[in-house]
Amino acid sequence: MYQTKTMEKFKMMECPQCTNPMPVKRRQLGYHVCVNCSTESAKRGIPVMRGTGDHTWVDLEVMTQEQFERYEEMENKTKSEIRPNKQDKDNLQGPFTIVETDN
Ligand SMILES: [Zn+2]
Repeated sequence: MYQTKTMEKFKMMECPQCTNPMPVKRRQLGYHVCVNCSTESAKRGIPVMRGTGDHTWVDLEVMTQEQFERYEEMENKTKSEIRPNKQDKDNLQGPFTIVETDN
């Protein structure tokens, strides 16, 4: 009886990501991939501000390391795009001012 339990403890399965053998016990602990894969793509939680005005709340976005890097890249791009957007608004006001000076 105890022998089968020991067998189960060392039972191996295929890692769904890299197909290397991983212990079934690991799956039972809540990990879906082997040690190598789980360290490579560690989950990151990023606090994200949602809503507008008074209705804002902080959400926790859970993503893999890969997604996190892409997110950071996007964040940096968005930040640099904020200034041109403000200039667009100024440009919208521009024609009105020009019409006034033309008169
Ligand atoms: Zn793996």
